[in-house]
Amino acid sequence: MSRLARLRERLIAFIHSIRFRLVLWYTLILAFVLIAFSAFVYASQVRDQTADSLGDMERRSVRIEELMQVELSKATSQNAGTSAGVQIPDTLLQENDVLVLIGPGGSVIGSRGPIPAEDAIHLAEHALEGPPLRGEHTVVSAGWAAQGKNSTRYLFLVAPIVEGGKLSGFMVFGSPLDPAGELPRLLLTLLAGSLVTLAIALIGGIWLADRAMRPVRTITQTARTLSETDLSRRLNMGGRDELGELANTLDAMLARLDTAFTRQRQFVADASHELRTPLTIVNLEASRALAAQRKPQEYERALEVIRTENDFMSRLVNDLLLLAHMDAGQTPIQKSGLDLSDVALEAVERLTKLASRKSVRLETGDLPEAPVLGDRQYLLQMINNLIENGIKYTTGEDKVVRVETGADADRIWLRVSDSGPGIPAEHLPHLFDRFYQVDKARTRNGVTDLDPPEASGSGLGLSIVQWIVQAHGGEVHVESGHGAGTTFEVSLPRGDVT
Ligand code: ADP
Repeated sequence: MSRLARLRERLIAFIHSIRFRLVLWYTLILAFVLIAFSAFVYASQVRDQTADSLGDMERRSVRIEELMQVELSKATSQNAGTSAGVQIPDTLLQENDVLVLIGPGGSVIGSRGPIPAEDAIHLAEHALEGPPLRGEHTVVSAGWAAQGKNSTRYLFLVAPIVEGGKLSGFMVFGSPLDPAGELPRLLLTLLAGSLVTLAIALIGGIWLADRAMRPVRTITQTARTLSETDLSRRLNMGGRDELGELANTLDAMLARLDTAFTRQRQFVADASHELRTPLTIVNLEASRALAAQRKPQEYERALEVIRTENDFMSRLVNDLLLLAHMDAGQTPIQKSGLDLSDVALEAVERLTKLASRKSVRLETGDLPEAPVLGDRQYLLQMINNLIENGIKYTTGEDKVVRVETGADADRIWLRVSDSGPGIPAEHLPHLFDRFYQVDKARTRNGVTDLDPPEASGSGLGLSIVQWIVQAHGGEVHVESGHGAGTTFEVSLPRGDVT
């Protein structure tokens, strides 16, 4: 890419950036404020100058009027019409002031000043059309009068000259509004000041916006380097401002995603691993049976092994599907008021056969009324899993699994305890993890070909139990000591409490 094209791209990116929009708006608002401020300052200056000039002119006009009366009477006595020199002292008429004396007939009797008498009269006439601003006989107006190449803004005062109650003429008195030329200087100062302020604001604004947006760029760059498989990077910006908070939130989100992805990957790996063993067994059994002519009993045994493994896989796939649905939030829990003792009894009845086959005494303790709000199917599965585990892992001479329920003021509890060897303490925190098995070899080896598929384990049973309990707003705990049996206790909110 050529340098020009790169520059063009950077410029387009800048124009589309928040930085640019921020600076643009900021500068526009500042420009608006500066224009308004300058206009206000300028207008105030004009107003003050006008008021000052007007006061000054009115003071001087009183004296000039008196002199004019004398001048007019002289002109009349000399049979006016001819021009007469107006003798006014310098203290009353300043440089560039205009004075025109008009006789009763409308003829110019005398004039003084840099503007021709006709122009002054014309401007004054124009002024007369406006409303009288000072008293009945005085009209003041501002007008532009040409003075060589420049035009100066004049204030005109027109006054009738009355002598002995009789109108004897008019006087047009004009004075420059801004004789010292302060207004253009003020305008220039305001303009220069505004431009410098805007330039500083623009540069400062770009710098500030750039600084403020730097964390956003860091976030964008880090997000770009993140890949689906590596979510281990963090922003670690550590600021306490809004962007720091955003970065912390994103870091927390990344951590959650990382955990979820790792768990997902582990889940898939564990699932594949779990399926590999039964598939290998099925393959081996089938190959062995087909390798030579066998007796019918041997085929029967091979088929039996294949069926057991198939059942194990079916159960595993069902559990996996259930967990996948649970993760995706696609497991509709239809809660209705039911008695947990009833559900426990149904589970016990279902598993009695399995228990007797494994020489386990499955007994029930107290089963009082235990109202809960729940989904019968899921609660049944949860209790099934706990009892099956008890049956599976109990060893020794007198094997007992005991199921009991109870009700507290606001909780309903269910306990499944067994007389097994217990679970070593170091395994307890992981027991509800997916695919976690305390002794994998023992789980699979303890199963005979004649056992139903429920008898074999894959480490998913307790995570399903935990999910179901939590979906019902409850908790599940395990108590176990080496050689002291294991007790799982589930507690759920009471269903009859409103
Ligand atoms: P599995 O399908 O292997 O039984 P679970 O999630 O139900 O999977 O249980 C996880 C592990 O917890 C089991 O492999 C077993 O080692 C241990 N466990 C569960 N229940 C008991 C129990 N009642 N007594 C002893 N160990 C148990």
